[in-house]
Amino acid sequence: MAPLTGAHIIARCLRDVGVTVIFGIVGIPVVEIAEEAINLGIRFIGFRNEQAASYAASAYGYLTGRPGVCLVVGGPGVLHGMAGIGNSNANAFPLLLLAGSSETHLVSRGAFQELDAISLLSAHTKLALRPPSLESIPDVIQNTYRTSWYGRPGSGFVDLPADLIKGTLTDTEEIAEAAPVPDGPKGGVDEAKLFKLAQLIKSAKAPLVVIGKGAAYARAEIVIREFVQQTNIPFLPTPMGKGVIADSHPANAASARSTALKEADVVLILGARLNWILHFGDAPKWNPSAQFIQVDVSAEEIGRNSGNAELGIVGDIGIVVSQLKSAIGTWSYSTTSSSYVQHLSAAKSKNESTAASKASSSKLPMTYAHAFSIIERTLRQISPPENGGIVYVSEGANTMDISRSIFPVSHPRLRLDAGTYATMGVGLGYAIAAHEAYNGSAAEGQSGPARRKKIVALEGDSAFGFSAMEVETMARYGMDILIFVMNNGGVYHGDSNDAEEWLNMQTKTKDGARQGGLRSTSLGWEVGYEKLAEACGGAGYVVRTPEELEKATKDGYEGRSVTVVNVIIEAGQGGKLEFGWQAGAGNKKKSK
Ligand code: ADP
Ligand code: MG
Repeated sequence: MAPLTGAHIIARCLRDVGVTVIFGIVGIPVVEIAEEAINLGIRFIGFRNEQAASYAASAYGYLTGRPGVCLVVGGPGVLHGMAGIGNSNANAFPLLLLAGSSETHLVSRGAFQELDAISLLSAHTKLALRPPSLESIPDVIQNTYRTSWYGRPGSGFVDLPADLIKGTLTDTEEIAEAAPVPDGPKGGVDEAKLFKLAQLIKSAKAPLVVIGKGAAYARAEIVIREFVQQTNIPFLPTPMGKGVIADSHPANAASARSTALKEADVVLILGARLNWILHFGDAPKWNPSAQFIQVDVSAEEIGRNSGNAELGIVGDIGIVVSQLKSAIGTWSYSTTSSSYVQHLSAAKSKNESTAASKASSSKLPMTYAHAFSIIERTLRQISPPENGGIVYVSEGANTMDISRSIFPVSHPRLRLDAGTYATMGVGLGYAIAAHEAYNGSAAEGQSGPARRKKIVALEGDSAFGFSAMEVETMARYGMDILIFVMNNGGVYHGDSNDAEEWLNMQTKTKDGARQGGLRSTSLGWEVGYEKLAEACGGAGYVVRTPEELEKATKDGYEGRSVTVVNVIIEAGQGGKLEFGWQAGAGNKKKSK
């Protein structure tokens, strides 16, 4: 019998714990692990930068509900992959990072890509281990995988020295098999507390359910839908909590968000943190006397910013909501006599009509809202939201914020964005992860017309640039991802759509002195991002008008390889940051 290599044992353990896909970039010494994994039937997706690969693995973990796995080289590979570690921790996405490292006997001698990765990552992961021997590989991989996943999901790290990867075992009896890791245990709430909280909810004058991405991750949509249906309580999804209940549901308070926060008195929070995204639960955004009932798998989260830890429940959202539903019985919130509900619907109609008028602007270059409404309308005709056939990935400050309300979703886990860490650069990796999760091996066994999903990425031109080379990764693996680059030539607002003005701005002088040339937010003038797709074997479109955008959207949807639609939009609008120079530039434009 041929001797077993460390690389083979590692790959076999990954297969045995349940890994079917690895995201990463190979090099010495991990290329053998990837090759062995491929031989064992695991899919390896090779990226162009470890950062994007690590983001992809974390999103794959979120979408499939099991840790995503990323394989990188040591030293610089680990440093690039740390981006994914931070992103996974911040979002509570399960991620297992595996990295090669220099030979054990060369430690401290200045070896190839030498880095003390365990010291570095111990502080930033739930578990970081280096197997001390070939025999220990199954336990180490199994426990790191399990730890990154169970409890609140996060990251785990395994350091794999070159001598271990290349090492051999002659006696196959010596090595134990890694056991498959089943879903983690799930807990609920005790009866006394359940009764007390059910009473509190029933006594609310202005109740609100906040639905976070933890609820989407928990796959608790069925019971949450029943709960809201039964109780009539208005709900508010967070950006990635969208779709747990369809956006079109009448109890959705998303377009009356400010009113909901200001008036709600009892707030049931299902898998969302009271962090910056929810304004820390603080007044004046929130009603100062709001009582928060946090439901979270993490005990440490309970009481953080809620002001009342006693009302919190540590448990699985699916189980807890089903308990709450039975405890509440047939009671439902009376919406007819509620001034809160009246305020919500008034705010909804007002905000929705403002949004509609923004979307119908006929200016050229198009605005964000106008361009998004054309894309949305075109896609809706091909694949209506109810079918759940499209996954939206969105990043870039304005692109993400403005698109959020324009693209409705009817099912959970169909919208990924920059997330808790506000990470720009995640989009292309996330799109690849979504393609793999919905159209790859993880999707096998799923049935119905919506199984195969189209992945649509809405990217700001700045956000796109962080990982633009992953377009080649998409093309190489035949991923028919449709990418829109919202091109305003800059970070946030962009500078100008007028070539001459733009040029002047770069070289403008005041009293003969240069004013600093390029702004910090400037990007290149009408960069031909679509050519990147063409260069890699995909399709590219540059569009300036609604008609061109509609056609490119249709073609891109039908496209069988990666498509980049470069959408030239109005510069100088939509910016959140107010700079003195921006006001000046805007005035200048208006005076023309
Ligand atoms: P959002 O960004 O949507 O506001 P967060 O990432 O802030 O959501 O919060 C998600 C929360 O969900 C985390 O605190 C996480 O611990 C929690 N969570 C994840 N899975 C479960 C589960 N199965 N049951 C309960 N809570 C969960
Ligand atoms: Mg931009």
